[in-house]
Amino acid sequence: GLPPYDDANIFARILRGEIPCKKVHEDEYALAFHDIAPQAPAHVLVIPKGRWVSAADFHAGASAEAIAGFWRVVSAVAKSLGLEASGYRILSNMGPDAGQEVPHFHVHIFGGRRLGRMVP
Ligand code: 5GP
Repeated sequence: GLPPYDDANIFARILRGEIPCKKVHEDEYALAFHDIAPQAPAHVLVIPKGRWVSAADFHAGASAEAIAGFWRVVSAVAKSLGLEASGYRILSNMGPDAGQEVPHFHVHIFGGRRLGRMVP
């Protein structure tokens, strides 16, 4: 299963301002910033502000307002990056089999080129 939340994880440190990031958007629900190792012309991470390891515990534990606020940021950021017309992909890795590296829930937004078929 997933580990308990670790306040020393890199995204917690970014949220606390201890590590810089290239910020795209921030509000009470979420922080969006450019991935440090972009896999597409547009590659942005969106993270909620709460202490959630994965989508599973975020959706189980956060308020409906916080969940809606987070997902609205995901869509608004994709739009602000100019991806709405051409399309984009959102993805979240959960746990070892998905290769989740950072144990703070995050959604990747990929876009800016044809991404190819989504296969494992
Ligand atoms: P995961 O594999 O957990 O879904 O994705 C973690 C992502 O976070 C990777 O795409 C990685 O490049 C990105 N990442 C890791 N450390 C940092 C960092 O310190 N700053 C930024 N902006 N992205 C990071």
